[in-house]
Amino acid sequence: MWPEHLKLAQRHTDENRASASERGYGARWRRACETYLRRHPLCECAECRAQHRLLPATVVDHKVPHRGDMALFRNVSNWQALSKRCHDAKTDARTVALATRSAPATRRAIT
Ligand SMILES: [Zn+2]
Repeated sequence: MWPEHLKLAQRHTDENRASASERGYGARWRRACETYLRRHPLCECAECRAQHRLLPATVVDHKVPHRGDMALFRNVSNWQALSKRCHDAKTDARTVALATRSAPATRRAIT
């Protein structure tokens, strides 16, 4: 029972790793992030820069969403170091923007 469980866990990990690297989020991306964050230790979002807020950056964000575009994904000039808090705020804002943008389109599709 135990070896079977172990095998399942291993397969699960492999699947996760495969799908993660397909999307570009593999070990190379993690290493690139670490290097980037060492050089950009503070949050670079517009708000933090405007207010001279010094929040430690913990995530590397794509300024322009790459949507699977690997050239855009790897383009360092499209990267910015963000604090977890600012990254979440940005993601929330984007979700809201997408929701409001898709609303009229949905209405059009129905009529
Ligand atoms: Zn910020």
